Amino acid sequence: MNTTFLAHLQSELDGLKSAGLFKSERVITTPQGATVRTADGREVINLCANNYLGLSSHPKVIEAAHEALRTHGYGMSSVRFICGTQDLHKTLEHRIARFVGCEDAILYAAAFDANGGLFEPLLGEQDAIVSDELNHASIIDGIRLSKASRWRYKHNDMADLERCLKEAREKGARFVMVFSDGVFSMDGTIAQLDTMRALCDRHDALLAIDECHASGFMGRTGRGTHEHRGVFGKIDVITGTFGKALGGASGGFTAARREVVELLRQRSRPYLFSNTLMPAIAGASIAVLDLLEGSTALRDKLADNTAYFRRAIVEAGFEVKPGEHPIVPIMVYDAVKAQQLAARLLELGVYVVGFFFPVVPKGQARIRVQMSAVHDRHHLEAAVKAFAQAGKELGLVK
Ligand SMILES: *Cc1c(COP(=O)(O)O)cnc(C)c1O
Repeated sequence: MNTTFLAHLQSELDGLKSAGLFKSERVITTPQGATVRTADGREVINLCANNYLGLSSHPKVIEAAHEALRTHGYGMSSVRFICGTQDLHKTLEHRIARFVGCEDAILYAAAFDANGGLFEPLLGEQDAIVSDELNHASIIDGIRLSKASRWRYKHNDMADLERCLKEAREKGARFVMVFSDGVFSMDGTIAQLDTMRALCDRHDALLAIDECHASGFMGRTGRGTHEHRGVFGKIDVITGTFGKALGGASGGFTAARREVVELLRQRSRPYLFSNTLMPAIAGASIAVLDLLEGSTALRDKLADNTAYFRRAIVEAGFEVKPGEHPIVPIMVYDAVKAQQLAARLLELGVYVVGFFFPVVPKGQARIRVQMSAVHDRHHLEAAVKAFAQAGKELGLVK
């Protein structure tokens, strides 16, 4: 291979390392759970998976995956419109649409693809997209692929959102779509969907949300941020993932009115030109929805764990971003300290990750802890104890 090119790549990598921005991956050797084993054989409490409901290794989910593997095979070997649609895929589309309160839904290999393939088919150059500045990377990429004009409002700032809506209308946009994460992953901010719905109605805009950190557990019956905010059934387009609370394997979806979904099936490029979910994931995802529609026990336990941990970690002297989401950002501010805290916690048997610039703003480094329904009280007590000890050692708490 061209040696100048390789040398160039190596210098890019070295640059990332010297800037402290290089990401390394920790190897674990067990399924996701309240604890995981790391490659050096230690068992540690896991506080950094998106396994909100503990379904990644739930026996019923694993059994349903085995069953679908047995009855429907391993792979599709085709995109949907050639010969890649099984009854399981159609059933899952109906079930997820019903679960999130929409008429129909379309599956994608990932939520990244659902967002990447959403805007370009639906909106053209006469249209406008209004987007929260902290929206997920996949939304930003999806918007870039469309020809619509763009407005960006300050994170979660409703006055600034209204400014954008007015400007887009004054410029004569044909259709306006507001897009926001339902829950923002670095802060656990819950979008003000009730206010947003009212603003969108006032300015005749569509409201679309990404529910990756919400589907399955936000709201009284776990339907999502719209249920939590009292606007269930009133969101125009919902994208989401099966790779977090809803089983944790992979796969994404877009749910909306039938016309939206049908046009996406015709024109959405990640759908047209890429295989869909393996049958085992489709079958297991249906079992996940059976579980969640039958009982709110898991989301209730998650809510209990979240309330307990948020209270206990504050009592231990840490500052957290206030809120009620199972994402609990523990503020350290200093990037080096955040990394030291994460490293010490791992020694003490607690697996967490420090986040710092550019993932969060400069001077806003934090440990992002995520609660799960698989955690029992003793896991959380042990974690808080370890936080208190490491925090004292590093001079972060008294
Ligand atoms: C995780 C995430 C995605 C990507 O989901 P995948 O199904 O893993 O591609 C998209 N949007 C948001 C807000 C996310 O948190």
